[in-house]
Amino acid sequence: MNRPPERAVADWIAEGETTIAVFCIAKGCGHHAAVDITRLPPETKRSQIIRRARCTACGSREVKLMRDMDAHYRRMLEERGFDPTPRPAR
Ligand SMILES: [Zn+2]
Repeated sequence: MNRPPERAVADWIAEGETTIAVFCIAKGCGHHAAVDITRLPPETKRSQIIRRARCTACGSREVKLMRDMDAHYRRMLEERGFDPTPRPAR
């Protein structure tokens, strides 16, 4: 199976990201934190970040990475004056 090349810090920086969200997937924890990727070597791969990450709340090494949506929305708002934050359905 052909998989797309693994994403690295340089790719996220090129897209304007400065942080990436790390979520703890240990049962019952749910801790998450934004990692400052500008301080990591640009060639650092996604899997390397996952391998090095450890939950500061429960000590689990089971984490997943996600785009930092808070920062993403904040940037959209600053750049375009558009607030895409979903509103609760009525
Ligand atoms: Zn945790």
